[in-house]
This record gives sequence, structure tokens and C-alpha cells, in this order.
Amino acid sequence: MLQVSELSASYGAIRAVRNISLHVPEGSLVAVLGANGAGKSTLVQSIAGVHREKTGSVRLGGRAIQKLPLHRITRMGLALVPEGRHVVTSLTVAENLGLSAFSGRSRPDLLDRVYSLFPRLAERRAQEAGLMSGGEQQMLAMGRALMTDPKVLLLDEPSMGLAPSIIDIIYTAIAALHQEGQSILLIEQDATRALQVADHAHLLQRGEVHMSGSPAELANSEDIRKAYLG
Ligand code: ATP
Repeated sequence: MLQVSELSASYGAIRAVRNISLHVPEGSLVAVLGANGAGKSTLVQSIAGVHREKTGSVRLGGRAIQKLPLHRITRMGLALVPEGRHVVTSLTVAENLGLSAFSGRSRPDLLDRVYSLFPRLAERRAQEAGLMSGGEQQMLAMGRALMTDPKVLLLDEPSMGLAPSIIDIIYTAIAALHQEGQSILLIEQDATRALQVADHAHLLQRGEVHMSGSPAELANSEDIRKAYLG
């Protein structure tokens, strides 16, 4: 479904992502793990078309998207939930969700899907997003991406800055989406959480893929245990 080949990305002279290839087969959940500064956000932003200084190819459903503008990439079915959420704080929950529905096409089925995944958003649909907790804003950011009916959902550190009980809710929703057949690329620093839901995982170090394998293979590796699992 999503095929990334030999992707490199820079900020001027800094090469943050080096020659990364990975594949998200249809219906699968692939995790990319790594410490602060490993290049995870740059990788996902390069895939999503937000970061433009890059080489290599990104294919979605067989079509090359690496040169397309952001709105076309979204229309083709790639949706990014960025690190830090970035919901529109002055708008309500319902208005934020309405923002990303394609103009002229009302999709009540997608809204129903979001509200059944996150009942909290349904309860607070008239609430201004800026007055909600970090966890609720994370739900809203995921809901907003789902309103574009994505073929592949890109999640950049969905657990960041949240309390463990809220992370449980977010990861229950991620597992439910996976169960429904949603293809997902999950970027995460919390290896324990990510390896519990992933089908396959990659460990990024200094912009490169250091190791790839099944969650069990990564969880058993000395590198991961020492650095990420304690
Ligand atoms: P974090 O979880 O802290 O966001 P990350 O794994 O997502 O880490 P990136 O944010 O992709 O890592 O950063 C990768 C490298 O690129 C780091 O060395 C970082 O300092 C550098 N970098 C990131 N953004 C910029 C920028 N706007 N300008 C210059 N260098 C940057």
C-alpha cells in the first residue's frame, strides 16, 4: 500500500534521514522506533509531503507521490497526524472534524466512525478544541485525519506528553483501527507500546534503519532492551 524507497531528507547540510526503505502492506501496522533526534519526524514528514528537501521515492497504491503537492497527497489517501497534534484551538471539535472533510462531499459515515472510535469527541462535539486536554486533542487530531478516509494513516508519536491512562485509550483506538483493516505507519519513541500493536517494526538510529523485524525480534534484541525497554 505504502512503499518508501531509498528516501533521504535534509535540512541544508544536515542529513536527517539516510536512504530509508520500508513498506506498509495493506491492512498492516508498521512501527518506526527511535530516540529523540533519530529522524522519525523528518521521515514521516517527508513521506507525507510536508518536508520537501528529499530524494528517493514514495509510492501510495503503486503511484509515485513524492513530487505531488500536499493537498493531492491527502486526496490520494495519505493522512498525517503530526507530533504535537496541531488542532485549531479556536474551533469546536465538530468544526475541526468538518475542516478536513472534502469540500462539497458530506461524509456522515466517516463522522460516525470517528465518534464511535472516540465517544469522548462525540460528547464534547461543541467544545472549543483549545479548552480540551492533550489526550482529547490527540483524539481530535486522529479523528481529523480519519475524516479524509485515508488509505494509510501516519501517526507521529501519538503518546507524546500524555498520561499512561490516556495513552491506553489512544492505543486501544489504534488497535481497533488496525483490526478494521486500516493501514498504519506508527512513529513512536515508546517502544513497549508500539511493539504491542505492530505487525512489523524498524529501529531508526541517526537517520538510518538500524534493525528491522517482527515485534518479538525487536523486543528480544539487546539494543532495544538496553535503550528503550529498560
Ligand atoms: P523527536 O522525537 O525529538 O522529534 P525525531 O526522531 O523525530 O526526534 P527529527 O525531529 O526528525 O527526529 O530530527 C532529526 C535530525 O534533524 C536531528 O538531528 C534534528 O536536530 C535535525 N532537525 C530537525 N528539524 C530540523 C530543522 N528544522 N532544521 C535543522 N535541523 C533539524
